[in-house]
Amino acid sequence: MSRKVAVVTGANKGIGFAIVQGLCKAGYSGDIILTARNEKLGQEAVQQAKSDGFNNVLFHRLDICDQSSAEELRKFLEKNYGGLDVLINNAGIAFKDNATEPFGEQAEVSMRTNFWGTLWVSKALFPLLRPKARVINVSSFVSKIALGKCSPELQAKFRNPHISEEELCGLMGEFVAAAQKGDHEAKGWPKTAYGTTKIGVTVLSRIQARVMSQTRAGDGILLNACCPGWVRTDMAGDKAPKSPEEGAETPVYLALLPAGATEPHGQLVWDKVVHEW
Ligand code: NDP
Repeated sequence: MSRKVAVVTGANKGIGFAIVQGLCKAGYSGDIILTARNEKLGQEAVQQAKSDGFNNVLFHRLDICDQSSAEELRKFLEKNYGGLDVLINNAGIAFKDNATEPFGEQAEVSMRTNFWGTLWVSKALFPLLRPKARVINVSSFVSKIALGKCSPELQAKFRNPHISEEELCGLMGEFVAAAQKGDHEAKGWPKTAYGTTKIGVTVLSRIQARVMSQTRAGDGILLNACCPGWVRTDMAGDKAPKSPEEGAETPVYLALLPAGATEPHGQLVWDKVVHEW
C-alpha cells in the first residue's frame, strides 16, 4: 500500500507551519508536504521542522493563485504517493486596516487568493483523494459575521443548502465587480473584502462536502471549513489571544478524525465545535 500523505498550503509560517508541527506531534504516520509559494521560506521551514526531529516533513512549492503550480503538485503526489489522504487549504491573505490600496483592488486580490486559490487547489487535488481522506478549508469566524452583514437576499443565497458552485462563483465575482464600482454596500454586500472572501470559503466547503457525499458515497471522506480562532501571526498581529499552536488545534483535530467517523462533514468548526451557518 502507498505511503500516506498530507498537504498543507501556506505552511512556511503562522498557522500553516503550526498545523505541520501539530500533525507531527500527533504522530501522523505518513509524509507531510509543507507547501509555500516562496521556495526559500518553505525550505527554511522544513529545516526547522527537521531540527525539531520531524523527519517526515518535505517541501513542495505551491502558489495557490497559479493553477500550473497546483498541477505540478498534483503530478508529484500522483507519482510519489498515488493519492492524497489529508488536504489542509490554509493559505490566505488579509489587507491591514491601514492599507492604502483602493477597496476594489483589495477585494480582487483577496478574492483571488482566499476563494479562487482554494478552489483551484481543490480542483487539482480532489481527484487524488483516497477513501477516508480529510479536507479542511481554513475559513474564519469572520465569515459568519460578514454573512450577518449581507442583505437578507444574499444571506438566503449563501445559506441555501442547494447552492451550486457555479452560483457561488458568480456571487463572488459580483462582489468584486461591485467593490470596484464602489456600489457594493448599495447592493447588499458587507464592507469587508476579507470577510466576503471567507463567506466564499465557508460556502464552498458546504458545497464541496455535499458533492463529495453524492459522488464518493461510501468512501468516508470528511470535508469541513474551520476557524482557527484569533491567532498571533503576521496576519492578525501580536494582540491576538491564541498562539499559532493553539490556532492549529482545530484544523489538526479535523485532519485526524478517526477512520470510522461520519461527522462533522460540510460544517464550519471552531474550537472543535460545529457552528450553525
Ligand atoms: P500568515 O499571514 O501568518 O500566513 C499566511 C500564509 O499563507 C503564508 O505562508 C503565506 O505565504 C501564505 N500565502 C498567501 N498567499 C499565498 C499564495 N498565493 N500561495 C501560497 N501561499 C500563500 O497568516 P495566518 O497564519 O494567520 O493565516 C492562515 C490562515 O488562517 C489564513 O487562511 C487566514 O485567513 C486564516 N485565519 C487566521 C486568523 C488569525 O487570527 N490569524 C483568524 C481566522 C482565520 P507568504 O509567507 O509567502 O506570504
